[in-house]
Amino acid sequence: MSASPKLRLAIVGGGIGGLTLAVALSHLRLDEFLHVDIYESAVKLTQVGAGIGVFPRAWEVLKDLGMAADLEARMAPSPLGIPKPKLAFSFRKSDERNGFPFFDLIIPGEYATYHRADLQEILLNHISSFVQSHLNHRLVNYNESKEEIELEFKNGETASCDMIVGADGINSVVRKVFLARIHGLDSSSEEAATNSAPVWSGTSVYRGLVDSEIIKRELPNHSALTTPLMYCGKNKHIVTYPVSQGRLINIVPFVSELEKEGSALRGPAIEEANLQDFVHLFAGWEDEVQCLIKNMNKVSRWAVQTVNPLDTHATERVILLGDAAHAMTPHLGSGAGQAIEDAHVFANLLDRLLRQGSRDIHRVSNAYTAIRRPIARSFVVGSRDQGIRYEFNAPGFEDIQEGDAIPPDRLRKLGKSIEEGWELPWKHSVRDDLQRALDIL
Ligand SMILES: Cc1cc2nc3c(=O)[nH]c(=O)nc-3n(C[C@H](O)[C@H](O)[C@H](O)COP(=O)(O)OP(=O)(O)OC[C@H]3O[C@@H](n4cnc5c(N)ncnc54)[C@H](O)[C@@H]3O)c2cc1C
Repeated sequence: MSASPKLRLAIVGGGIGGLTLAVALSHLRLDEFLHVDIYESAVKLTQVGAGIGVFPRAWEVLKDLGMAADLEARMAPSPLGIPKPKLAFSFRKSDERNGFPFFDLIIPGEYATYHRADLQEILLNHISSFVQSHLNHRLVNYNESKEEIELEFKNGETASCDMIVGADGINSVVRKVFLARIHGLDSSSEEAATNSAPVWSGTSVYRGLVDSEIIKRELPNHSALTTPLMYCGKNKHIVTYPVSQGRLINIVPFVSELEKEGSALRGPAIEEANLQDFVHLFAGWEDEVQCLIKNMNKVSRWAVQTVNPLDTHATERVILLGDAAHAMTPHLGSGAGQAIEDAHVFANLLDRLLRQGSRDIHRVSNAYTAIRRPIARSFVVGSRDQGIRYEFNAPGFEDIQEGDAIPPDRLRKLGKSIEEGWELPWKHSVRDDLQRALDIL
């Protein structure tokens, strides 16, 4: 047994980032050293009814955390089969009646697509009982003294901890208080809220699933039944891929107004949507697209927001993780992947520190932000650039209008730059990053 009292770690937010951290701490068997509480605002842990791609870097982490078998059991079937390499997305020029493929992205590593609820269930099954969950606990503020951090919840309860991890998503309260403290602001002030607020990327996204049988009946050879696709057009694109072993197809139409990028969002960030809100925007697109979007079910509209770059992701006792630190556009399917990496690196740093018998948690914070901040930042930038490419807005495409013919060599070059942009989620290994972080510690 460790001699000193257990370090009390509070994880605020039970999304993919918070849950992965709980899995990592469980996997490392840190119960001897740690007391862990997860505080989640929702009364029930749920995920939006949509798909999620887990690309090689994040896949490697989940595998290292002992989840490979469970993840493989829930994979959607792939046209090229498993294992690697396999077709990640077939890109089509679709903003005309006769759409056509212009580029196939093959990822030379393991990756898979999931229903979010499936991924959440797998994570929950890998959390040890020493992690205590507290639902209906919305953090509203925290106060840091020399000895500890006091947490205040909307339900009137309070709690204390030695270290807090803000895994509370894009509208993170932990980030608001964290930034207010750094900038000497009152955390309840308007200025603190503005300072921490996410910004709109100019893109709206409609998220929904459709039963594969419906598509099969209408277009039996529909490519989306077996193949992950990117239907591309000017200022718009649609991502689709099968989930839940192919029973459902995840359909995600994106609509962008580039000139609004970086502006404050007007209106709700998430709302229910009707097909009439967006089906007409794809009126001239190819038949496969029409078939998919008119059959979308329970659609919600999300304003794609991002978090402006932060100077640090950690102070001594406070760690920002996942979207709370670096919410990004979803064009590399890597926001959750980056949250998973944050969790893995942080958990392993803490493990090393505690097993050395040290309580100098600032060493963990320093190493975490030194390694994770620049990597997450590269994904934020890389994701943004990919969105520009998918929607024919890359440099050299300024003259292109919706439905215009694009010469094959320009599409070929575009495919090449999309391919290069996709190297981020697979080219380097998180294991190397973790080693660098441990070296810093
Ligand atoms: C259209 C779209 C498609 C995407 N596709 C992919 C993809 O294919 N692959 C991928 O890796 N990423 C994808 N992402 C990004 C991914 O969804 C996010 O990056 C990821 O969910 C972030 O995880 P998180 O745990 O940091 O935050 P969240 O998932 O937002 O979780 C935060 C949790 O904190 C809770 N919470 C919030 N505030 C408080 C509070 N004050 N107190 C207590 N609890 C609180 C919330 O209820 C929630 O449970 C996509 C995003 C979008 C919009």
